[in-house]
Amino acid sequence: MAVTGPPERGPSTTLGAGTIVSRAGSPTEATEADLRALESNILTTTVGRVVSWARKNSLWPAQFGLACCAIEMIATAQARFDIARFGSEAFRASPRQADLMIVSGRVSQKMAPVVKHIYEQMLEPKWVIAMGDCASCGGVFNNYALVQGVDKLIPVDVYVAGCPPRPEALLYGFLKLQELIAEPAHRRRR
Ligand code: SF4
Repeated sequence: MAVTGPPERGPSTTLGAGTIVSRAGSPTEATEADLRALESNILTTTVGRVVSWARKNSLWPAQFGLACCAIEMIATAQARFDIARFGSEAFRASPRQADLMIVSGRVSQKMAPVVKHIYEQMLEPKWVIAMGDCASCGGVFNNYALVQGVDKLIPVDVYVAGCPPRPEALLYGFLKLQELIAEPAHRRRR
């Protein structure tokens, strides 16, 4: 049986616009339809965009809650609100597997070192949502027992207002965080 190799390419030539190279390596004139097909089948992007697309669509929250807001956070993972639509239903019991901290509830002075410790155990890059008025600024508890906003302890990316915010509000904050992650300026800060 005769075995034949790939067809040889001819001498190199300068190809003008509208010229395509066939599989056999010979230049042929492209038709309008060929060029349109080419345009709709080529995608150009950057590594940074692909990485941030993957990150924003697979945020894994750390599994912990601090107070009443946590009940609303838990509801977002239920079928009715379905945070799984955004690839984030995997609440991780280990901070080392999480890249999103949702601070859901008031932060007492006693819990502050624990919250900070969990945050520090999470790997970079990581993000924080302050869920509810208490986590954002102390809420109605303007007293010595509570931290007046979790941003006194750790950097916060998105604040979700409300007492408590409904699951839809948390999902809105979550979408805002996804927008931030996709933003090149934000990516550079990380
Ligand atoms: S914001 Fe309201 S619902 Fe949330 S932890 Fe504070 S008091 Fe509870």
